Amino acid sequence: MPRSHGACNQTRPDAFFTCTTGDALIPGYRSISIVIAVFLAAGSTSLPREGPLPVPRSQGHGQPAERPEAARTETPQDDGKTAGNPNEDETAAAFAACREALRAAGADFEEAEAMSEGPSCGIERPIRLAELPGGVKVEPAATLRCETALQLVRWMEGSVKPSLEAAMPGEAITGLSQASAYVCRNRNNAAGGKVSEHAFGNAVDIAAFTLRSGATVTIRPVERDSTLEGAFQRAITEAACLYFTTVLDPGSDAAHETHLHLDVKARRGGYRYCW
Ligand SMILES: [Zn+2]
Repeated sequence: MPRSHGACNQTRPDAFFTCTTGDALIPGYRSISIVIAVFLAAGSTSLPREGPLPVPRSQGHGQPAERPEAARTETPQDDGKTAGNPNEDETAAAFAACREALRAAGADFEEAEAMSEGPSCGIERPIRLAELPGGVKVEPAATLRCETALQLVRWMEGSVKPSLEAAMPGEAITGLSQASAYVCRNRNNAAGGKVSEHAFGNAVDIAAFTLRSGATVTIRPVERDSTLEGAFQRAITEAACLYFTTVLDPGSDAAHETHLHLDVKARRGGYRYCW
């Protein structure tokens, strides 16, 4: 899948000044960047020459940045955790704030009893998400951590609905078919290996959207699909990385040919894995 992002040239000492604005320096900061560049050059033996994270996914601007350690050790199949179970970090206050945000957004959900299966699986404060804002049914209802559900709502409102409206004017999403939410299993259903983020309630797999007309938009390989439906799927997949820390799509590997895997796994340095 083609990816295009503003570049952050992390091999240069003035990296902060070349990020997010294309490759042009912000005018008012040019002199400051020169001063910092000179300073960093003078102290280069003791300071890191590369910003830690994240790196751009494409090489469309500037020099290609070296992939960080996390990326070198992960593959597209790697959707498990490396930085601890976020359940352990979710305070009661954080959950309450999330729950209120979800409610205020208009989602229909209910809280469920804490669940635990074996030493690796479980959700301390699970919710059962039945409906997204605007009456979009979650089919079937999904058991998730609140944070996962809230990011799903934000992605739907911020990207999926507007993209659908652009691609198919007059249509609207009435249902979201999820292929997997909480389930105690290893990554990619393997017999061994690391535990999937699904086992913590951090992940949801999106298989299809049901539209008002009754039509269905199914997640499928669309790398070279020049239809509006293909553009819609590419757009929402790209945008998903703004809301989720892991995004795996049919272009990632054979295990994800029929769905989008989205999760809120916490990684060291805030790194996101989205390709
Ligand atoms: Zn998944």
